[in-house]
Amino acid sequence: MLSAPSETSARSPQALPVLDWTHRLTQLGTRFFTPLQPTPVAAPRWAARNDPLRTELGWPAELFDDDHLQAFAGNALMVGSQPLATVYSGHQFGQWAGQLGDGRAIWLGEAASAQGTQEIQLKGAGRTPYSRGGDGRAVLRSSIREYLCSEAMHGLGIATTRALCLVASPEPVRRETMESAAIVTRVAPSFLRFGHFEHFSAQGDTDSLRILADHAISHHLPECNERAVLWQGNVYAALLDVVQERTARLLAQWQAVGFCHGVMNTDNMSLLGLTIDYGPFQFMDGFDPGHICNHSDHQGRYAYGRQPNVAYWNLYCLAQALAPLIDDHDMTLQVLEGYKSQFPRFLGDAMRAKLGLSGALAPESERENDWTLVEDVMQLMAAEKVDFTLFWRQLSLAVVHQSQAPSLTNTGWSAVTDLVLDRPRLLEWLARYTTRAGQAHFSSMGEVMLRTNPKFVLRNHLAEIAIRKAQTGDFSEIDTLHNLLKSPFDEHPGFEAYAALPPDWADQLEISCSS
Ligand code: AMP
Ligand code: MG
Repeated sequence: MLSAPSETSARSPQALPVLDWTHRLTQLGTRFFTPLQPTPVAAPRWAARNDPLRTELGWPAELFDDDHLQAFAGNALMVGSQPLATVYSGHQFGQWAGQLGDGRAIWLGEAASAQGTQEIQLKGAGRTPYSRGGDGRAVLRSSIREYLCSEAMHGLGIATTRALCLVASPEPVRRETMESAAIVTRVAPSFLRFGHFEHFSAQGDTDSLRILADHAISHHLPECNERAVLWQGNVYAALLDVVQERTARLLAQWQAVGFCHGVMNTDNMSLLGLTIDYGPFQFMDGFDPGHICNHSDHQGRYAYGRQPNVAYWNLYCLAQALAPLIDDHDMTLQVLEGYKSQFPRFLGDAMRAKLGLSGALAPESERENDWTLVEDVMQLMAAEKVDFTLFWRQLSLAVVHQSQAPSLTNTGWSAVTDLVLDRPRLLEWLARYTTRAGQAHFSSMGEVMLRTNPKFVLRNHLAEIAIRKAQTGDFSEIDTLHNLLKSPFDEHPGFEAYAALPPDWADQLEISCSS
C-alpha cells in the first residue's frame, strides 16, 4: 500500500505493508542520517522490472504494479518505509573530501526477504541535505548502466548491490547536455561504506563510530565475533580483517573479468565487499593493464592495473578510521598485511580457474608455476591489446573441443590463435599450457572454463545501444541485455553479435563521472 510522500503520518489503519519492514538502522538515531521525503517526478514510466530478483527475494508481484510505479518514482511511499539519507565522508582521488553523504540516494528502510534482510534505496530521487549543490537526480543513461551492470556482476558471481527496477521520467536533467531523469531502486544487505566510518572518526566521535561498528558486526558481519579469536578477542580488528578479506576477494574477481570500477573513492567502497556505485565503469575490450575507463581520471589513479593497490590504500583509510576502536597500532598494521597475502592468493586462484587449473589445495610450487603461465599470457595479450573476454572464451571452447596439441596446422585452435598477431609466441605458450593441463582432462577442464570465462559482459557499446534506444522511449534492449547478462556463461544461441568484438565506434565512447 502507498501514501503520498507528504502524508506519511496520515496512513489508513487498514493499509497493510506489502513488504515486511524492520528499522534497525533508523534505531541508531539521527546523528547517522536525516529523515526526509523523496521529491516527486513527472510522468514516471517503467523502464525495467527485475522479476528474477523480485522472485529470488520472495517479494510479491504486486510490487511491480502501477501503484508501485509511483513508489519507485518517489511520488508515493510504501507503507512501512521510513525514508532518509545517511551521512558519510570520504577520500576522493586520494584527497580527504570531508562530508559527502547520500546526495541523491534515498534509503527507504530494511525489508525481510528470502535472502535475508535487504535495504532498499531509490537512487536519483531528489535532493538531500548532502546534495552539496547537486540536483539529487540521476540521468537515464547512467541509471541504465547501473541497472544492467549490477545484474551482470551478479550473473558473473561477483558480490554487488542489486537493481530491482528502473523508472524513467521525461523530467529534464542538466549535465553536459540536457538529459532526462531516472530512478534506480537498488537493494543490498547493507549500503554501509568505508566513508561512513571515516565520517565519525574524523569528527572524533568515537561513540558514534562504535555504535556504527557494533551495528555492522551484529547485523551484517557476525563472522567478526569468531574471527576475533585470531586477534586477542579484539572484535574491531576482526572487523577490519573481515573487510580486507572480502575486499581482496572482490578485487581478484574484478581483475579476473577485466572490470574497471572507475571511481574507487573510499565513499564508493562497500563495507560488505560489494561492488557499489556504478559510474564510469567498464569491462575492458582490448586488454591493457593501464586502461583508464573514467574520462575524468586524468592521472589514471583508477586504471585497471592499479585497482588492487587502490583497494589497499582505501583499506588503510578504513584502518585509520577504526583505529580508535581497535586501539592497537601494531595489530591494525598486522591486519592490513593480510590483504597483501590474501589478494595475490585470490587472484592466483581466479586466474588459474580461467585456465581450468583449479584446486585451492594445490601445492605452492604448482601455484607458482601456474602463475608464470598466467603472467606470460597476460603479457602476450597486453602487447597486442587482445580482446580480454573473447580470448578466454575462445580458449575455453578450444580446450573443450580439442584432443590434439596446438599447432599452426591444427585448425581446432585457430579461434584462439586468430586473435593474436604473434602466433609463434602464442603457440609456444599454448604448448606449455596444454602440457601442464594434460590432454586427458581437456574436455572436463574446458567445461569448467566455460563456467568461469563468460561469453557475455556489459561492454560499453552494448550499454550505449540500449541507452540510445531508451532515449527514444524504447526500453526493450534493456531487457534483452539483462537476459543475456544474468546468465553470461550460457551460449544464448542467436545472440552471437552481443559476444563479438566491439565496433570501431566503441573506442570513441567517453564515459566520465557525470551521471
Ligand atoms: P559519486 O561520485 O557518484 O560517488 O558521488 C560522490 C558524492 O556526490 C556522493 O555524496 C553523491 O551522493 C554526490 N552526488 C553525485 N551526484 C549528485 C547529484 N546529481 N546530486 C546530488 N548529489 C550528488
Ligand atoms: Mg558514490
